[in-house]
Amino acid sequence: MTDMNRSMRVAVQRWTIGVVVGVALLSAGTVQAQTERPPVLVQGAMTSETEHLVALLGSPKLEQVGNWSFWRGTIDGYPVIVSKTNKGMSNAAAATALAIELFHPVAIFNQGTAGGHDPDLHVYDIVIGTASLNVGAFRAMFRKRGDGSRPLEWVPLDLLADGSAISPNAPHRPARFDADAALLDVARRTRGSYSRGRVVDGIIGSSDMWIDELDRVAQFHSDFGTSVEEMETASAAQVASAMHVPFLGIRVLSDNITNASTYDAKA
Ligand code: SAH
Repeated sequence: MTDMNRSMRVAVQRWTIGVVVGVALLSAGTVQAQTERPPVLVQGAMTSETEHLVALLGSPKLEQVGNWSFWRGTIDGYPVIVSKTNKGMSNAAAATALAIELFHPVAIFNQGTAGGHDPDLHVYDIVIGTASLNVGAFRAMFRKRGDGSRPLEWVPLDLLADGSAISPNAPHRPARFDADAALLDVARRTRGSYSRGRVVDGIIGSSDMWIDELDRVAQFHSDFGTSVEEMETASAAQVASAMHVPFLGIRVLSDNITNASTYDAKA
C-alpha cells in the first residue's frame, strides 16, 4: 500500500472520530451513568480501514465472532466499538447484525474508501451519505443465445419491495436507505475539521462490483444519482434500518475513474 492510500484511509478514520464524539455527546445527555451509555459502533472493511480507529480507543478489548472482529473501548470516556466487517455486502450485513445483537449500539457509522462517480470529486474528498443504494440487484431481460450481454439495459430491482421483484409492477429502482437525520446533522457540522479535501453530501452506491466502465459509471450517476461506489454501505444500512438503529455512511475517495484520479491497484 502506498503512503498516499494509507494516509487517505487514516484521514477518514480521524475525521469520523470527530463525528462519533459529536454523537456521543448528544447521547450522553440521555443516560446518566457512563457505564450505562450505549456504545457508538464504527465499521470499516479492512485492517487498514480500522487500525487507526482501534489505536485511538482507550483500553480496547478484542472480541472475535467467526471471521469478524470487534474492539470495545472508549473515546473521551464514551463507549465506542470498532468493527472490522471484512469486504463486501454479505460480510457487512453479517457484521452489522452481530454488532446490533451483541452491543446494542445507539448509532452506526460505516466508513472507508470509495470510487468516484461524480467528476467533481477527487481523491481525499469525503462523501457524507445522505442515502445509500444497493446497485447490485438487476434483472437482465431475455436475449437469445449469441446476443451477448448488455448491462446498460439491465433493470434495477428493489429486493425489499413487497411481492415479486420481477413482476412488471415491481418498482424498478435500487433499494434505498436514508441516513439518520441527527447523525447527518452532526456530520455536516463537523465538516470544518477536515482539511485534506472537501466534505460533501452525496449518495453512496454499493454492490459486490468494482466498475471502471465509464458508460456504466455515468449511467449510475445520472439514473440513480450516485456520487461514489463501494462494497459495504447499503448492506450495513439495510440491516441497521431493519433493526431500527440510526445509521450513517462516510466515504473518502480512493479513486475516481471519471476524472482519472489514480488508484494504486495494490492498495
Ligand atoms: N486492493 C484491495 C481491493 C479493495 S476491494 C484489496 O485487495 O484489499 C474494494 C474495497 O475498497 C471495498 O471494501 C470497497 O468498499 C472499497 N472501494 C474503494 N474504491 C472502490 C471502487 N471504485 N469500487 C468498488 N469498491 C471500492
